[in-house]
Amino acid sequence: MDQKPGLFDFPDFLLKAEEKALEMTSSYRAEANKIRSFNSRKVLEAFIEENVSDFHFQGSTGYGFSDAGRETLDKIFARVFRTEAAIVRHSIVSGTHALAVAMKGNLRPGQEIIIATGDPYDTIKPVLGIDRKWGGGLNEWGIDVKVIPVKPDLMPDIQAVVDAVSDKTAMLFLQRSCGYTWRPSFSVKVLGEIIAAVKSKKSDVIAMVDNCYGEMVEMIEPSEVGADIMGGSLIKNMGGGIAPTGGFIVGTEEAVRKASDELTCPGIGADEGATLGINRLLYQGLFFAPRIVGNALEGAIWASCLLENLGFETKPRYNEVRTDIIQAIKLGSPEAQAAFCRGIQKACPVDNRAVPIAASLPGYRDPIIMAGGTFIAGSSIELSCDGPLRKPHAVYLQGGISFDHIRLGVLCALVEMQEQGLLSF
Ligand SMILES: *Cc1c(COP(=O)(O)O)cnc(C)c1O
Repeated sequence: MDQKPGLFDFPDFLLKAEEKALEMTSSYRAEANKIRSFNSRKVLEAFIEENVSDFHFQGSTGYGFSDAGRETLDKIFARVFRTEAAIVRHSIVSGTHALAVAMKGNLRPGQEIIIATGDPYDTIKPVLGIDRKWGGGLNEWGIDVKVIPVKPDLMPDIQAVVDAVSDKTAMLFLQRSCGYTWRPSFSVKVLGEIIAAVKSKKSDVIAMVDNCYGEMVEMIEPSEVGADIMGGSLIKNMGGGIAPTGGFIVGTEEAVRKASDELTCPGIGADEGATLGINRLLYQGLFFAPRIVGNALEGAIWASCLLENLGFETKPRYNEVRTDIIQAIKLGSPEAQAAFCRGIQKACPVDNRAVPIAASLPGYRDPIIMAGGTFIAGSSIELSCDGPLRKPHAVYLQGGISFDHIRLGVLCALVEMQEQGLLSF
């Protein structure tokens, strides 16, 4: 009797294709593993240097005065990023919030911010006030925003950035990851070059980096090449798939203090904030982060090769050096975006029966289609895939707590595309 193939009984051509992609990527995946080892050691050393102990996992209530768990976690983050200071808080609701707090806290009316890496991530636009539908952005506080487009080769236009610096320029903003734009993500080295060029013209400019998805992907962080302040989300790389919510800001003593004043208020800064029962999860997530980021990278490298072999344009290509965990895949049509996301969703441990459909989300301009049946809602360090319904109809694949899960997810996505006649091989 014929049995219907199960969800994970993949057709032969796919099994052959995935085998080939494994072979073709072995040296690049080995490189990712070296970075994982390096960063695992860095994190472990920071735990040991700060004498982490059981009592740090206790929570506080009320004002949260003298919460040793909170204060020590801040110090560990500062060590990991080689910065003077850090704040890590569950009350930072997302990466966007962390970045907004860092910007608003460090800018004053009459000053100017230069966005040096082209069109910023969708959710940053309302913060800057360049998406005026929302209101309340930096523009309403009398802060000018200059966005410098990338060059035709999609790399930052360093000369134009330097030319844009004026007496009013107080902050340089750099976005490391591509976000939802079809451009390369910018390596720590490239970010360092922009920062150096700007600071040689005006030394007191605060260099700020949107480091989302970039943490632990290289052996150095932007804070080691001149960034004064950076922010990110704990449901991405630095939460290791364990942190249930939160964000962090790292940087110089002064820049982090000003951001803390914006997060709470002047006079309180980073000295209050009850941690309730969340400390252990944030510590544990940080401890796992290098390993989880390494798995995600291995999966992204393999997926990039597999999809390229099946005829799709990918960014980055499997053999290119990476600076974030995002794998962009140009699928070319909304139907293909939907099929790919449907397949990823089917392979998720949570909500596998859900069918992703595009919807509007707060902070985003175009409808977004998203797949992600994650343990932590919206977590994108767990296997997830999304893309805005606009040209070039790309999907952005990221995360994956294990390589095995990424493999199953991507193969399901390809089966879904094949069934729709969207795969030619
Ligand atoms: C994810 C992300 C952010 C912040 O997004 P949140 O969902 O608010 O955490 C900002 N910039 C980039 C490039 C991102 O990828």
